[in-house]
Amino acid sequence: MCGIIGYTGFEEATGKVTCGLEILEYRGYDSVGICAKGQDGIKLLKTKGRVSSLNEALSKSPIDSAFCAIGHTRWATHGAPSDTNAHPHNVGRTYLVHNGIIENYKELKAELEKGGVKFLSETDTEVGCALINKYYEEGCDPHTAILKATGFMHGSYAFAIMFEGEDNTIYAVRKGSPLIIAKGIDGYYLASDLTALLPFTKVYCSLNEGEVVRLTKDGAFIFNKGEPDWKVTNMSFESAKKGGYDHFMLKEMNEQPNAIKNALSPRIKDGLPDFSCDGIDDSFFEDIKEIHIVACGSAMHAGLLAAPIIEGLCMVPCRSYIASEYRYNPPFTQKGTLVIIVSQSGETADSLASLRYAKSQGLKTLGIVNAVETTIAREADFCAYTYAGPEIAVATTKGYTTQASLLYLFAVAMSFKKGITDKENAKSLTECLFFEAPQVVEQTLERGEEIKAIAKEIYESQSIFYIGRGLDYALSQEASLKLKEISYVHCEAYAAGELKHGTISLIERGTPVIAIATEEALFDKMDSNIKEVKSRGSHTVLICTDKMENAHACADRVFVLPRSSRIGGIFGAILAVQMIAYEVARLRGCDIDKPRNLAKSVTVE
Ligand code: GLU
Repeated sequence: MCGIIGYTGFEEATGKVTCGLEILEYRGYDSVGICAKGQDGIKLLKTKGRVSSLNEALSKSPIDSAFCAIGHTRWATHGAPSDTNAHPHNVGRTYLVHNGIIENYKELKAELEKGGVKFLSETDTEVGCALINKYYEEGCDPHTAILKATGFMHGSYAFAIMFEGEDNTIYAVRKGSPLIIAKGIDGYYLASDLTALLPFTKVYCSLNEGEVVRLTKDGAFIFNKGEPDWKVTNMSFESAKKGGYDHFMLKEMNEQPNAIKNALSPRIKDGLPDFSCDGIDDSFFEDIKEIHIVACGSAMHAGLLAAPIIEGLCMVPCRSYIASEYRYNPPFTQKGTLVIIVSQSGETADSLASLRYAKSQGLKTLGIVNAVETTIAREADFCAYTYAGPEIAVATTKGYTTQASLLYLFAVAMSFKKGITDKENAKSLTECLFFEAPQVVEQTLERGEEIKAIAKEIYESQSIFYIGRGLDYALSQEASLKLKEISYVHCEAYAAGELKHGTISLIERGTPVIAIATEEALFDKMDSNIKEVKSRGSHTVLICTDKMENAHACADRVFVLPRSSRIGGIFGAILAVQMIAYEVARLRGCDIDKPRNLAKSVTVE
C-alpha cells in the first residue's frame, strides 16, 4: 500500500511528482505530501485527503525552481490519516517517505526519545526517519547512515530520502516493499510501481532487497554494484488511462475478453495447453503429490474456484489457502507439494511471506502474477504472468478472471501430461477456455440494462446474500466480496445447503438472496434452496445457465446466461456478479475506483 515517487533532473519537479502521485493514488489515498528542494532549501507540504488537496495547497504555496522532489500518497497503518501523520516526515536534516511497517518502532522510538528526539506524529515512519537522521548527523555519509539505521529495523520498507547538504540527490532503499528506479531524458525517477512513471519514461530497473541507490540529475548508482541493469517496458501510458469510461473498474471489466485471451494464448500450442514459455515442461508435473494455492482476497477466491477443478482433472489433492494464515498455521506439506502463489500486484506482503515460507521448506513454487518483474514473480521458482495489463481500480475484475482462466488451463495441462485427460478432451477444454469464455464474457457485458434492473431492486438493502453450490459457491464468495468492497452493503456468501443451519434466521421480508446456478447436476438442489428463502420473504435473484428449465418459476428475477458449456457458464456468472456490484455501487453514489479504507497492492501484513 501507499505510493512513493521521486524525481531529480533538469525539469521542474513538483508537477512530475504530483502527476505520478495521481496515478499512484489507487495504492492509498487517505493523505498525501511532497517535499522539494526549492530556492530556499527543502520545503515540505502535506495534508489529509487526496492529491487534489495537495494540488490546492501547492497552488497557494508553490515550491518554485525545484528540480528534485519526493512524494507520497498514504494508506495509514500507524496513526490515523491526518496532516501530521502524512508523509514526507522530517527529523533534523533528513526528509523521507516510506511504504511498509517498521515492526519494532516502539523500542526504537523509546531509545531515540532517551537521546532527546521529540516526535510529532504517531507513525512508525517518523521513527525510521529519526534513526537515519541520527547516524547522518553523527557524521556518517548517507549510504552508511541508511545501512546502519535499517540494520536495526524489523519489518518492511521502501524509503525515498532527501538530506540537507546533499542537494538535488535522492537516496532509496527497499526491503519487502516494492520500489523501482527509472531513467528519462530529463532526469532520474523512482516509484512504487512503473505505471506512475509511464508518462515520463519506459526505461526502468527493479531494485533488489537491501540495495541502496543514489539518484542525481546525472545518473543512478546502486551501491556495491554500479550502474543499474536498465530494462524497457512495453506497457503504454494509454493502457493505464480511463479511455472514455466513467471508471477504471468499468474499463477493466470491458477489457476481460481480451485479457483472458492474452493470458491464455502464450500457453496454447496446436490447440493444447503448453506452459513451456514459463519454463514448465513435462518433468514439472511428474512429482506433484498435492497442490496448495496460496493468496489473498480475490486471488484466493480464484484459488477456491480452481482447487476443485484441479482436483477433479488431475487427481491430486488441491486446496486454496488464505496467505495470512498459511505461514503461521502451516498445513501439512511433503516432498511433492507444489505451492502456487497468486497475486495481481506480485507484491502482496502475506503472499510473499508464504512464498518465502514454502521455499524455506524446500517446496516447489509457482507464481501466477500480473505485474511483471515484481518480487513474487522474481522469487518464485517458476512464474506464469497473467498479462492482464495495468489494473488500476482497487476492486479487481480482469485480475481475477485471468487468474481463474490461467489456473484452469494449468489444470488441463497437468491432467493431459499425466495421461488422465485424453488429447481430444484436453483440446476441447482448451478451446472452451480460449474461445467460448471470452465470448460469453462479451455477451454478458452487452446486457447492462438487465443488470441495472437487478441493481435497482437491491441497492437500498441493508444486507444481501449470495448462495451457490460447488463451483458456484466459490463464485459466490468472489461475488460477495466484490459487492461489499465497492458498495459498502453487507453481503455474505453461503453454500446454498448450509444457509438453513443458522444463517437463514437473518432472512427478512425483502432481503435479497442472489443464487448462482451453473452446475447442472445441482440445479434441483438449488431450486429447493431458493424456495426455502423465498418462502421466508426473500427477494430472490437467480443467475443461471439456459439449461435450468424451471428457472423463471423459481426466482423473482432471473438472469439467464448466454448458452455455453460449463466453462462459459462460470465466466458468464463472474461477469454478471461484477456488473451487479458495479451498478449497486453506482446507484449508492460510492467512489467505485477508490473504495473507503482500501488500497490496491497490499504490501503490509
Ligand atoms: N507505516 C506507514 C504509515 O502508517 C506507511 C504505511 C504504508 O506503507 O502504507 O504511515
